Amino acid sequence: MSALDYTIRFLGTGTSIGIPVPGCPCSVCHSKDWRNHRSRSSIIIEKEGYRALIDTTPEFRFQALRSKINSLDAVFWTHAHADHLHGIDDLRGLTWNRPIPGYANPSTTQEIHRRFDYLWKNTQRGGGKARINLHEVNKDQSIHVGPLEFTPLPVLHGQLPIYGWRCGPIAYITDVSQIPTETYERLENLELLILGALRFKEHPTHFSVHRALEEVKKIRPKRAYFTHISHEASHRELRRRTPAHVNPARDGLRLRVKG
Ligand SMILES: [Zn+2]
Ligand SMILES: [Zn+2]
Ligand SMILES: [Zn+2]
Repeated sequence: MSALDYTIRFLGTGTSIGIPVPGCPCSVCHSKDWRNHRSRSSIIIEKEGYRALIDTTPEFRFQALRSKINSLDAVFWTHAHADHLHGIDDLRGLTWNRPIPGYANPSTTQEIHRRFDYLWKNTQRGGGKARINLHEVNKDQSIHVGPLEFTPLPVLHGQLPIYGWRCGPIAYITDVSQIPTETYERLENLELLILGALRFKEHPTHFSVHRALEEVKKIRPKRAYFTHISHEASHRELRRRTPAHVNPARDGLRLRVKG
């Protein structure tokens, strides 16, 4: 293990509705196996004391407390769906001392400006607001956060073009139903691929477990973790149905990746 290694922390690994689903009588939602409790999907990537967040889920406050996140240097968004964005206000405490840069594709930054316009408006003094300098990132641009270099991974989420993000030897792609040919070139030589795998059954806007496994075979990372998992797939069954170098992630999981 070296000081140049990356640390990944899974803040959440669940699909948009989270698990347990309030009111759902299913066995996964009522499971005593805590690995089946999944908050909305998000990760932290760290290296040499720099720390970047991907997505601000509606549970960000609780996730940040649980994973003891006490500072942030940047935030990246994959897309503007509520489960990836609506915890943006909870960046307040982490941006009191200094604003942080935020990065997303042009349609996502437009949507963030529209939905959370008050963040950039002059309003009366009060409890304060999250201080984010928002930047559009086009698909051929790279972003540097200290030693972390982020490159967009354009993918399709149903009809919606969104971004996954590559950082060094790590790729994070959550909501995806198709990877365009050009994006595979950006997925070579991965130590770690984190990929959305919603459930065993097919879905129009997400990879099923079967599809995700096919993509892992094609992309050939050293290891892969599945995320954005629904209550239609238990942690145990996912482990049983995946090969040794592919695993379901779980909330709070921490991984080291060689830098
Ligand atoms: Zn999602
Ligand atoms: Zn359920
Ligand atoms: Zn989505």
